[in-house]
Amino acid sequence: MTRKLAVANQKGGVAKTTTVASLGAALADLDVSVLVVDLDPQGCLTFSLGHDPDQLEVSVHDVLLGDEEIADVLLDTEDNVTLLPATIDLAGAEALLLMRPGREYALKRALAEVAEDYDVVLIDCPPSLGVLTLNGLTAADEVIVPLQCETLAHRGVGQLLRTVREVQQITNPALTMLGAAATIFDARTTHSRDVLSDVTDRYDLPVLDPPIPRTVRFAEASASGSSVMRGRKNKGANAYRSLAENLWKHWDAGEPVRTFEPS
Ligand code: ADP
Ligand code: MG
Repeated sequence: MTRKLAVANQKGGVAKTTTVASLGAALADLDVSVLVVDLDPQGCLTFSLGHDPDQLEVSVHDVLLGDEEIADVLLDTEDNVTLLPATIDLAGAEALLLMRPGREYALKRALAEVAEDYDVVLIDCPPSLGVLTLNGLTAADEVIVPLQCETLAHRGVGQLLRTVREVQQITNPALTMLGAAATIFDARTTHSRDVLSDVTDRYDLPVLDPPIPRTVRFAEASASGSSVMRGRKNKGANAYRSLAENLWKHWDAGEPVRTFEPS
């Protein structure tokens, strides 16, 4: 059975893309077959997995509009995950999809064609709650919310949870909110912990274990277009490996996800 996980937060810069790229690579290292989906017109996931969005002829955009078969658009990556890439064309997809019936189901329909080939599908949502994120949430079984543990991290979380509840009521009743992922977490100060416990208490959100520490290596990796996980032994990569193991135990053995207590 294929597990589909959406990574969503309409706030930019909270490490959605880093989380998808790193979890994908870490799961592939566990011999799990992984498809990652770039739903952001900026194409950061596509770029960070070694493909230049500006050089691509076809992308998830054409798949969502029904102009290309998904299998013809998938790309291999050095991280041993398969990529459904995005290009800037996707910025126009919102408007084009809005005129179509069943517009929230376009990704779900496309994934149904190939999902059997993969154990896990990770969906990198864009920084908005528009039709692309609704496609991600409609196609997924579960969703996690990355939180950058700084002041005002809670802003927008209520709105995201409301969107998730609406998706559960309308397009995807089986969608489960798995919890928050504490990304860019500074374990040396109490501030990160305080912010995290504030958000999770306020919204009654479990936090997945472990938190991902802040490390400069991530910024270096995403700028160079090579994965954070390749040949790296830094604490951020290790944390993502541990998070991947936590998720895989949940999916493969049916265990509840291990959670982290901020306070
Ligand atoms: P989003 O997809 O939510 O917009 P990104 O994954 O693009 O966020 O991350 C935003 C920025 O934060 C990037 O420059 C990335 O390299 C950096 N970043 C992500 N995770 C970490 C981390 N654990 N420590 C330090 N920087 C990080
Ligand atoms: Mg992103």
